[in-house]
Amino acid sequence: MAFSKSVSMPCPDGVDSKSLGRPMPTEKRSWVVRQLRAWFDTSAIVSVDDERADRIDWLRATPFIAMHLACIAVIWVGVSPVALIVAAALYAVRMFAITGFYHRYFSHRTFRTSRAVQFIFALIGASCVQRGPLWWAAHHRHHHRHADTELDPHSPNVYGFIWSHVGWFLTPRNFQTDISRVPDLAKFPELRVLDRYDTLVPVLLAVSMYFLGVLLHHVAPQLGTSGGQMLIWGFFVSTVVLFHATVTINSLAHRFGSRRFETKDSSRNNLWLALITFGEGWHNNHHYFPGSSRQGFRWWEIDITWYGLKLMSALGLVHGLKPVPAWVHAKARG
Ligand SMILES: [Zn+2]
Ligand SMILES: [Zn+2]
Repeated sequence: MAFSKSVSMPCPDGVDSKSLGRPMPTEKRSWVVRQLRAWFDTSAIVSVDDERADRIDWLRATPFIAMHLACIAVIWVGVSPVALIVAAALYAVRMFAITGFYHRYFSHRTFRTSRAVQFIFALIGASCVQRGPLWWAAHHRHHHRHADTELDPHSPNVYGFIWSHVGWFLTPRNFQTDISRVPDLAKFPELRVLDRYDTLVPVLLAVSMYFLGVLLHHVAPQLGTSGGQMLIWGFFVSTVVLFHATVTINSLAHRFGSRRFETKDSSRNNLWLALITFGEGWHNNHHYFPGSSRQGFRWWEIDITWYGLKLMSALGLVHGLKPVPAWVHAKARG
């Protein structure tokens, strides 16, 4: 069942009704300061209390919940074609950064690229509010190693659909980045900075969206947009839709679809998920052979990320794309 990993509201250290109305003790104040600091600097997370490690930290979850609530503001800011176009373009570019780079490059090293291109796509990936590249890759490698066992942080079969979709990453244990899983990425200081200050890039994108709207309102008022409208559509709506599309691969792609390969996990191939995630829906293919840059193994298995990577390869921006080996094709059913 949903939230099966015990999501009872954690009581802040020692807070009880008797203390209400009294000044906050120093150690409690420092606990709050440390918690809030961790919103902006992930290195502030120094230890995890084992008792609370696997429960949702509701204080830390408030920005995530607020992002969803912010979308309701479409009622007040209205909509315009240009706001929808910007929102869709940001969805597409950022989905490609997540699938092509956070996933197929940083997590699985299925091709090579220059340090500059690596950084640019890490930066775009960081704007998706899915944390930094080290955090993302570390958790994803762990998922592959233990898929659909109790050690898999987001198995829908072990922990339920809602937990796999929106619960697991809001726990203190999963806020942390286990650097030992990503030593190859941790050697780049610029990636460590993106990982440490993982709210910085999203905030910059949100501010940019607001000023883009203000600018368009002044120079092209006929477009019918504004700072608030562009902020809500370009940042909040686009990011929330992008988020839910991405995590369907954790939740739905381990439940619904067909299985071409007998893998130990319950991964599935699903055309609909492949369309919204630019190719990641061929998840059973991917779990069977994660070492390929391509996840649609047949010509008809639409894999937009793969087409994008082929284009980047033709332009000389990436190289060494790893193909699907002949022995994998030979093992395929259908
Ligand atoms: Zn999976
Ligand atoms: Zn993967």
